Amino acid sequence: MHKLFIVFLFLIPFVSFSQHTKRCGTYEYWEMMKQQDPSLAIGEERINREANEWMVAHRNERGQSSVITIPVVVHVLYHTDAENISDAQIQSQIDVLNQDFARLNQDTILTPFVWRTTAANTGLQFCLTSVTPDTAPSTGIERRYTSNESWSNFNEMKSFSTGGLDVWNRDRFMNIWVGNLDGGVLGLTQMPGGSPLTDGMCISYKAFGKIGDLDPQYNLGRSATHETGHWLGLYHIWGDDGGACSGTDYLNDTPNQADNTFNCPPFPQTDECSPAYPGIMFMNYMDYSDDACMNIFTNDQSSKMHAILNTTRVSILNNVASCNGSIAVSLPIKLFPNPVTDEILIHTYFNIPASIDFSLKDLYGREIMHKAKSLSSYEKVPFDVRHISSGVYVVSVTSNNYTITEKVIIAHR
Ligand SMILES: [Zn+2]
Repeated sequence: MHKLFIVFLFLIPFVSFSQHTKRCGTYEYWEMMKQQDPSLAIGEERINREANEWMVAHRNERGQSSVITIPVVVHVLYHTDAENISDAQIQSQIDVLNQDFARLNQDTILTPFVWRTTAANTGLQFCLTSVTPDTAPSTGIERRYTSNESWSNFNEMKSFSTGGLDVWNRDRFMNIWVGNLDGGVLGLTQMPGGSPLTDGMCISYKAFGKIGDLDPQYNLGRSATHETGHWLGLYHIWGDDGGACSGTDYLNDTPNQADNTFNCPPFPQTDECSPAYPGIMFMNYMDYSDDACMNIFTNDQSSKMHAILNTTRVSILNNVASCNGSIAVSLPIKLFPNPVTDEILIHTYFNIPASIDFSLKDLYGREIMHKAKSLSSYEKVPFDVRHISSGVYVVSVTSNNYTITEKVIIAHR
């Protein structure tokens, strides 16, 4: 291919899809974003590596012990009255997420017996946020008329200046834009690690929630369940390898699978990657089956989502207050391990260069150690405490106007 033509391809600001229904455009969208910004691919590797480390360290935790509630904002962009979906339709989508992620969906009985113990209650829940980023009261829904009949550049939905609605701080909220997506696309998501200005998912008004005027194949709200899986770091169950057996979703308890599944096949289904019973897990939320035929996240998928919530998206964990009307706080700084033997690691999740101010005081408030360091982004910065006596201390870390203060136990071996 001519070099100039390749450059031109990279500059096309949208993914073009054919006109028949496209279950999910996440893979194509994310590949395009990575082509435009190669640092995203490097970041993606690091994010998955950190998530894997977390999963290994928390092997026995599946997330069911405590419930995490994620605040959601829904941005509705409408050109016709039909696209201006009702509050009730939006709430029906939140209800579906809460059922599917807790495995309280009525169709769990359709999960094949062989996979019942692999199926997870993820311990994740969702609410329409009760506050705006400025902590004003909110319904968690905002609406805007658009002169666009449909959206082909999905990032334009995410900015007021291009006719859309601006993202709400992704460190505090899961952003969902609902509108008329071009190319028959039902949904697409920016994977963890992308720009804070475009973080979130876009979903078709014809596939959002379970009431209203919906596409009959996609009328149970599973598009948002699938896209939320992407937002929390899950990949397609067949590994996006175009029918080969080489691709992976990086998880162990999902069978290898050649390609995506459409419609609603009977169980069992085998293919060249899983030729023996029980075959492929086509009823997994991360496949492309009809809404009525999806009913399972696995334990490893649950674990991966918790890993992302404890690493790249850790600031969301500090904002559960937005679900009960409290003032939103967001702390994208994490300190570990605790107790510590040699060095305290400070992990930040900013996308921009910053400095870290580290202060360690004893329980009488006397400062024992004070250091400042600079960082580029998403780094783990070590502070050596081998010279500090064993005991209990108070550590304060300030970066980008955020401060965390924690009691830390130093216990030398
Ligand atoms: Zn997808």
